[in-house]
Amino acid sequence: MTLIAIDAGHGMDTAGKRTPAFEDGTIMKENEFNEATAWYLSEALKRNGFATILVAPEKNDTSLQTRVQRANDAKADAYISIHANAYGNGWNSANGIESWIYDKSDANTLHLAEEIEKEVVAMTKRKDRGVKRSSDLYVLRYTKMMAVLVECGFLTNLEEATLLRSQKYRKDCAEGICKGICDYYGIIYTAEATQQTDCCPKRYETVQQLPYGKEVIHMLIDNGWLQGDEKGNLDLTLDMVRIFMVLDRAGVFEEKQQKTISAKEKKNGKRKKKA
Ligand SMILES: [Zn+2]
Repeated sequence: MTLIAIDAGHGMDTAGKRTPAFEDGTIMKENEFNEATAWYLSEALKRNGFATILVAPEKNDTSLQTRVQRANDAKADAYISIHANAYGNGWNSANGIESWIYDKSDANTLHLAEEIEKEVVAMTKRKDRGVKRSSDLYVLRYTKMMAVLVECGFLTNLEEATLLRSQKYRKDCAEGICKGICDYYGIIYTAEATQQTDCCPKRYETVQQLPYGKEVIHMLIDNGWLQGDEKGNLDLTLDMVRIFMVLDRAGVFEEKQQKTISAKEKKNGKRKKKA
């Protein structure tokens, strides 16, 4: 099985690596993006049949030596370092995606970097700054396998920093990197199977069909709160049933039921008096 080492650049306590202050006064540390994206990448790669090793899962800043050592010891086939870029200190217009390889890298590494760069750009629709070569990036220089460092947008660009903060963009970057790795290895990329589970959950029309939660659904029907369609089909998913069960446990219906009962009792009482 092909083993991919994933390096979430920096640590939460690394000085300097952060956005300027957003309008609301908050900042985002680069490692917040790197760590989340590394995790998404690991999940995406495993889904596509790769084995992964996270070489810097700690909150503190794992040394570059340790990161490289872990990948070398594990005999990983490729090393992916995830970063967000920065230019200067305040907000500015520098933007886009770039990938880095060691300047003495072979053609395979260049090919891998090009595939990753292409797919991350396609996925995020950000500017393509291309693949660049460096002679001094430690993790690229001392890893014994192909190594690519991806800069997934600029912390110093307000639009990109806002994206870098979002889970959607982090996922997109991870899926883009995964696609690039699949391209390189000639594997047909498999996207996350959200459609089967999220779009078409099983629907239940009667209380009898439900595997659980019958009692609470009965109660809702008895109170006239749940009626279903004109034929009386309930059209319930288990997610809905579970929400009702949680609300029931929280006593939401209990209170309402008592109100209904006391209102009924009052009504009955008044009627009785009138009668
Ligand atoms: Zn970085």
